[in-house]
Amino acid sequence: MKIIAHYIDGKLVEPANGRYIDNINPSTGELYGKIPEGSPEDVDLAVAAATRAFPSWSKTPAAERSRVLVRIADLIAEHSQMLAEAEAMDNGKPVSLAGRMDIPRAEDNMRFFGTAILHWSSEAHIMEDRAINYTNRKPIGVVGCISPWNLPLYLFTWKIAPALAAGNCVVAKPSELTPMTAFLFSKLCIEAGLPAGVLNIVHGLGTTTGEAIVNHTGIKAVSFTGGTATGSRIAAVAAPRFKKLSLELGGKNPFIVFDDCDLDKALKTVVRAAFTNQGQICLCGSRILIQSGIYDRFVSALIEKVSAMKVGDPMLQDTQTGALVSEAHMNKVLGYIDLARQEGGTVRCGGKRVIVEGPCSGGFFIEPTIIDGLGPDCRTNQEEIFGPVVTLQSFETETEALRLANATQYGLAASLWTTDVNRAHRFSAALESGIVWVNTWLLRDLRTPFGGVKHSGVGREGGWEALRFFTEPQNVCIEIG
Ligand code: NDP
Repeated sequence: MKIIAHYIDGKLVEPANGRYIDNINPSTGELYGKIPEGSPEDVDLAVAAATRAFPSWSKTPAAERSRVLVRIADLIAEHSQMLAEAEAMDNGKPVSLAGRMDIPRAEDNMRFFGTAILHWSSEAHIMEDRAINYTNRKPIGVVGCISPWNLPLYLFTWKIAPALAAGNCVVAKPSELTPMTAFLFSKLCIEAGLPAGVLNIVHGLGTTTGEAIVNHTGIKAVSFTGGTATGSRIAAVAAPRFKKLSLELGGKNPFIVFDDCDLDKALKTVVRAAFTNQGQICLCGSRILIQSGIYDRFVSALIEKVSAMKVGDPMLQDTQTGALVSEAHMNKVLGYIDLARQEGGTVRCGGKRVIVEGPCSGGFFIEPTIIDGLGPDCRTNQEEIFGPVVTLQSFETETEALRLANATQYGLAASLWTTDVNRAHRFSAALESGIVWVNTWLLRDLRTPFGGVKHSGVGREGGWEALRFFTEPQNVCIEIG
């Protein structure tokens, strides 16, 4: 039984109320650990520790803050195999994916912001011979970071790295479904010599621990990644307290394939875009829009590839599709497949729970599923399913493709496939989407602004945008003589 602890004031501690919640391994369905059931009391202790640490950490030279963050990055690299295995066991994702995506990216996040802070500068506005204005960017104070279960350590570090680099102290909460790598990360922070109280990790449920962070008067800003409904709740709680908010929310992303595309590359990529991490990435392409001239050819080749995907034990290196994160989430996704049938859709491939033989027979597996025959307005094409389920729609013209692509409340990411460079520019500009990939998917440069429009979020992460979010700009105007 793996029992984890909060990380408060530089120490691993038990929850104040002594209560724990179960941690289930989603690939076996069995209990394998206990998680502290955090309470507002734990959050108070964490905020108090962070408040005590802030004066010193905010005045620590950037070069020293950088040194500690880069040391943490080095430790992630040193322990990458152990972290990848822990992530796979906690989340159900293939260990091969955790090893090539989640853990290297967590390391990159720490290294990127740990070094970005060395190059961070601010603006000056000079009024000819009258005055000089300069923008003094100060760390905010104690900030809250709340992250989801789909990319646990990857998204957790994506928030805390810029917050710490900019000189803030942090109270963070990982998802209660996947707390293990955040716990292991707290041990690495101790080993790296991060001063006590600079980062505090409080485990527990969103509705208690998470909400206590958002509510706390000692926390000045909240960076949240998760579902749109939770984002709306957080905005409502934070607004009367005038907190700075960054919200990275859900998506229902179009993958748009024109008939002049590089078909082989589009096919290979659409399988990744649709089903990586069991479709549980906010950036996954879940609505595949295909021009009519290649529709039949594209769909039959896609079904052939997807039907051959290996679903099974996440710990085996050749597994392509692991378990969904929980039984409740698996049932939600299966419910959406039923809904698609009721709405008149045809399941072209997959559609069922998979019972994997052997130790994973109690796990939460679903076949990669492709559905067609549904219009753009039905719930299946409007609501985020967040599982290995995609729909296919056909279009004739560029105008129709754009209408379908923009036809949801979401606007996170789009992937566009064409060899016509004029169309690539024209269509990208017209997409209601925070991120557009042309002839690729999930190619990330950490310097670029990251985030969604419409119900996919408010604000941007990444590069200087993240450092701007985690600092308060003050204008100083000095009149010249
Ligand atoms: P949730 O919104 O359910 O949870 C996200 C985090 O918020 C968890 O740590 C959760 O805690 C916590 N939480 C829940 N309720 C509250 C509350 N009232 N106050 C404060 N915190 C709360 O999202 P999921 O974990 O289910 O993640 C999946 C969602 O995340 C999808 O919609 C996906 O699209 C989105 N996402 C968006 C990304 C983006 O960059 N735009 C990237 C990745 C995912 P707990 O789980 O412990 O209850």
